[in-house]
Order: sequence, then structure tokens, then C-alpha cells
Amino acid sequence: MKLNKNFKNLGEDYLFAEVAKRVAAYKAEFPNSDVISLGIGDVTQPLSVKVSDACKDAGVEMSTKLGFRGYGPYDGYPFLKNAIVGYYKIRGIDINPDEVFVTDGAKDALGGFLDLFDADNTVMIPDPVYPAYVDANVMSGRKIIYVDGNRENGFLPMPPARGKADIIYICSPNNPTGAAYTAEQLKEWVRFALDNDAIILYDAAYEAFVEKRSGAARSIFEVTGARDCAVEFCSFSKMAGFTGVRCGWTVIPMASPLNRMWLRRQATKYNGTSYVVQRMAERALRSGYEETTKSVAVYKRNAEIITNKLDELGIEYLGGKNAPYVWLYCDIKSWDFFDYLLKKARIAVTPGSGFGRNGEGWIRMTSFNTTERTEEAMKRFDAFWKEYVEVKEKLFRPLSK
Ligand code: PLP
Repeated sequence: MKLNKNFKNLGEDYLFAEVAKRVAAYKAEFPNSDVISLGIGDVTQPLSVKVSDACKDAGVEMSTKLGFRGYGPYDGYPFLKNAIVGYYKIRGIDINPDEVFVTDGAKDALGGFLDLFDADNTVMIPDPVYPAYVDANVMSGRKIIYVDGNRENGFLPMPPARGKADIIYICSPNNPTGAAYTAEQLKEWVRFALDNDAIILYDAAYEAFVEKRSGAARSIFEVTGARDCAVEFCSFSKMAGFTGVRCGWTVIPMASPLNRMWLRRQATKYNGTSYVVQRMAERALRSGYEETTKSVAVYKRNAEIITNKLDELGIEYLGGKNAPYVWLYCDIKSWDFFDYLLKKARIAVTPGSGFGRNGEGWIRMTSFNTTERTEEAMKRFDAFWKEYVEVKEKLFRPLSK
């Protein structure tokens, strides 16, 4: 037996596991400490009643002779695929049900999709970004090149003037920065992909947070030409509170050979998303949509609480409008800030450097806690920051100096 030697090239721990480990160590040392998490990007609002009713209804249906179902279609039941088609349609995007694949979530699909590509492909990944893209490609030994997100480009890197890539990841709205591309900007990526004969893997996990007036795109398929070079991954996780329920979808245009290949791959390695879960997802998109997406409004309100405080303290940041993430500049090594903030204010965040080299000096805060806890966290942060600016130069080496 030979192990996959590429695992040696992975970091010791997945970023969020390392954050959890450090918080657990702190809690073990100070068992009575009340740590507020603005760290891991998990939802906190319960499922909407309409969605949980759909769960009950489908459960009862399964207990009847007529309603019972065994294995479902590998690509999802038509009722959910049609609901997803309708979800795009209201935004003026035409896709057909055969282009929709129901999945157990965006992460599983993004990882599994790499089965369709040879190891001999160059992958282009923005930095900073959701770390699963890099790790999944490291595991299969692909060459990775990065495009830099930074202060100058508002953490929205554009295609490089030179350089070739075969597989291009775009995450918009971006985790961790909260920055989101407009359709005009995405047009340049589509052109780049077409010129390179490349595929764009577009992660729209946070599209439900996009504010119309911001002008940001919700789907790569808003751009002409995207059907010839892009696949879109989406999720019910953040929009409907499905991080524990598990459901998402992938859109692969029919003209792409990837459509048939993914169906073949799923038929081999996947036995379909649970019927009950698909009924819950359908309800979230149809009659339960308004009630379900109230949770998004709660997270948006929390983001506002965070950004109001950062404005008041004069801290440089972005995000918080089109995403549940606020990306703020702390001016010292991200992990040093993480440890210091945890120790002094009992707030857990995520160090920017964990999302890539360009995240050094930055911190990601999430708006996924409850409003009460977010308010309490920002009260603590206010006192913390005022002290931090006084001691920063004495205790740390600021990156801006
Ligand atoms: N894509 C991005 C950018 C994410 O931030 C996350 C989760 O945090 C996922 C995908 C995973 O989504 P899912 O829960 O659907 O697997």
C-alpha cells in the first residue's frame, strides 16, 4: 500500500480546526471564561418553521406505502431541480433542469468535482480565499498559481495580463473578505477563461447576501459567455441554515462535457441527497422563501453592528454588506492578534493569514452569532481596541512600520 504523498504538502491542520483547537485550549485553561465566537462561519439561527414543517411532512410521507422512497436520482428529484431553475429565472437567468445537480453541499461538490480533471492542470486560485480549494488541489497534486487580492484591488483580483491557467476558482461574495465582483468585472474573467480554454469553478455560496443596490453579481451566468466556460456551485447552508442539514446544487451547462462526466461520477460515488432534505430545500425556495431568508436579515443586521463599531473606531475594513464576513486590518501578524484578542477580550475570530499569504495582517469576523452576542462582542472589542492601539508598538511589531 502506498499513501498519497501529496498529503505531506498540506498544512498540519485545516484552518478552522486550528482555530477550534486554540479556543478549546483557552477554555480548558480558563473554564469559566465566556468566549464569544465571531470565528467559524457557521449559522446560528434555527431553521424556519416552514422548512421544518416540510421535514415533518416528508417524514410522514415516507412512513406510508405510497409515499415511501428508496434511492433517489443521482442528480436530485425533479421537484427540487425545477425549484432551483425557478430561483434563477426570477433573476432573469435561464437554465434547464438537466443542468442542475442537487448535492450534499458546496464543499462536497467542489472537492468531488476535481475527479473530472487530470492532475496535469494548472489551477488559479485567488489569495486570500476559502482554504478548501487549495487543500483539495494539493491533495491531488496539481500545480497552483495565485492571483493576489490586496488593499489596492479591494481584494478583487482581476485576470493577470500574462499567465496561463486551466482551472480558475472564483469565490464571490468572497470568503473571507466579503468583497463581491460586479458582472462587468466577471466579464473579464469569462474572457480570460475563454482565451485560455479554461474552466471557471464559481462558488456562489453567499449569493443570497448580495444587495441589489451594490451592483454585485449573484451568479456567473449573469455574464454572456459564461455558459461556455463556467460551472456554478451553490448552497442552502448560509441562505437557509442548512449547514447541519446539508444540501446544495451545482449548475453545469449541457454543452459542456463536464455535465455528462459529473452525472457519471455521481452515479459511481454518490447515492443522492436524502428525499426529506430535498423537500426541505424545495420549501426553502418556494413557499418558505420569505420566512427562511429572514435569518439572512439577522446576519446582515449583525454585520452592521460590527461595521458601525469599526467605523467609530476608525478601523480599516471591507465586507459586511454582500457577505456575512467583515475583513479588518489589525496591522500585526494575524495569529498574534487572534491570540491577544482571545486572551484580552475573549473573542474568537479567524486569522486572515489562514486564508492565504495576502491575508497576513488581517482578521475575519463573522456576523453569524446572535445579535445579543454580537453586540456584547463589539462592546468588548471597543474597550480592547482602545487599549490595543496604545500597546501595539510595545508588544508587537506592526507590519506598517
Ligand atoms: N464555499 C464557501 C466559500 C464557503 O465559505 C463554505 C462554507 O463556509 C462552503 C463553500 C461550504 O458550503 P456547504 O456547507 O454547502 O458545504
